[in-house]
Amino acid sequence: MDLTLSPEEERFRDELRAWLQANNPGPEPAGEEAAFEFRCDWQRRLNDAGWAGLSWPREYGGRGATLVEQAIFSEETARARAPQLANVLGIAMGGPTVIAHGTEQQRRRFLPPILSAQEIWCQGFSEPGSGSDLASLSTRAVRDGDEWVLSGQKVWTTFAHRARWCMLLARSDPDAPKHRGLTYFLMDMRQPGIEVRPLRQITGEAEFNELFLDGVRIPAANVIGGEGNGWAVAITTLMHERFTLAFGLQLQVQIALSELVERLRDTPATGGRSAFEDPVVRQRLGQLMIESEVLRLNAYRGLSAVMRDGVPGPEGSLGKWHWSEVNQALAELAIDVAGPRALLDEDRWTYRFLRARANSIEGGTTEILKNIVAERVLGLPRMR
Ligand SMILES: Cc1cc2nc3c(=O)[nH]c(=O)nc-3n(C[C@H](O)[C@H](O)[C@H](O)COP(=O)(O)OP(=O)(O)OC[C@H]3O[C@@H](n4cnc5c(N)ncnc54)[C@H](O)[C@@H]3O)c2cc1C
Repeated sequence: MDLTLSPEEERFRDELRAWLQANNPGPEPAGEEAAFEFRCDWQRRLNDAGWAGLSWPREYGGRGATLVEQAIFSEETARARAPQLANVLGIAMGGPTVIAHGTEQQRRRFLPPILSAQEIWCQGFSEPGSGSDLASLSTRAVRDGDEWVLSGQKVWTTFAHRARWCMLLARSDPDAPKHRGLTYFLMDMRQPGIEVRPLRQITGEAEFNELFLDGVRIPAANVIGGEGNGWAVAITTLMHERFTLAFGLQLQVQIALSELVERLRDTPATGGRSAFEDPVVRQRLGQLMIESEVLRLNAYRGLSAVMRDGVPGPEGSLGKWHWSEVNQALAELAIDVAGPRALLDEDRWTYRFLRARANSIEGGTTEILKNIVAERVLGLPRMR
């Protein structure tokens, strides 16, 4: 791919840079509630100025921007250290899925409040007995006139405690082969029969939840992509998760790496030599720099593939797998240099180190991503 920007793309970048300089509210406040409100407010400001849902069509509140402009947006917001968005699952996954498989009525109803953060979205795919083997899920959907009635349990449901809508995958035909008996629903989280129980993570945060459904009713009009077509719709959601997030994540790695270099420079010398002068530390840093550049170039390669084929492909799995390894290695280096102090340290590197443990599980485990790369990118024989 050609990495030089056209004059229009440069204009877009300069306009965005100027806007970010004037509007970036700076670092997030401490505390989960305060940080969430801060992110909602930031997303509203972006949306009011026409910067949310960049590549979405204009008629649904987007900007109709090209993928290159979207990539510029990710780079510039990361560079400006702008806050995260509140409705990240709605913007990265829910919206693109509704655009790809929804009816016109569904697009008009659901897309604008995703962008304004008025309606937060969550993803109800994983179950206690079905994570990697998602198609084996057992949450049941039974048709009752113009409605579906759902019962079962989901788990690891990020933002279920804040969400208005859940992208829910359920079994609508238990007699069909497992991939064909699934339907994709948009479930209103504010109704009887839904119980959300928080799960506390190693970081101390309760970012995700258990989700219990007992006779929950969903109008047939909230099925996305047609009855029995849930697997194809779910794959769209997952491909967007890996592609869209991969682009922003590789930038966060670059920023984290430059912060780590600054930190190491400032670390006082022990035994006559500072951490920054230690040859082993320098070697690990050098390797991380190489890996972060490979991540960046692969993200661009993924972008070229989407520009060519229109949809994200299985190569996104490579980016997500590689990112999780690099991000974990980065945090481990910071913690190794900090030594036993890291256990007491309340600073952001300790948080990063703990949060990074989930990177190789969330959004598909590394083992599963390796299988996808082996079978669907490299064309190696299937394991089973
Ligand atoms: C922070 C975080 C946020 C999450 N948010 C959400 C969310 O919002 N919505 C949602 O639906 N889910 C969410 N998840 C769930 C996540 O997608 C699953 O944890 C993941 O798919 C793995 O499923 P599992 O936990 O059931 O593990 P399992 O599938 O039981 O896997 C257990 C182990 O076996 C390995 N394994 C399984 N099958 C194979 C195979 N065929 N070949 C090789 N190894 C294999 C796995 O790699 C893993 O190491 C989240 C998870 C985390 C950590």
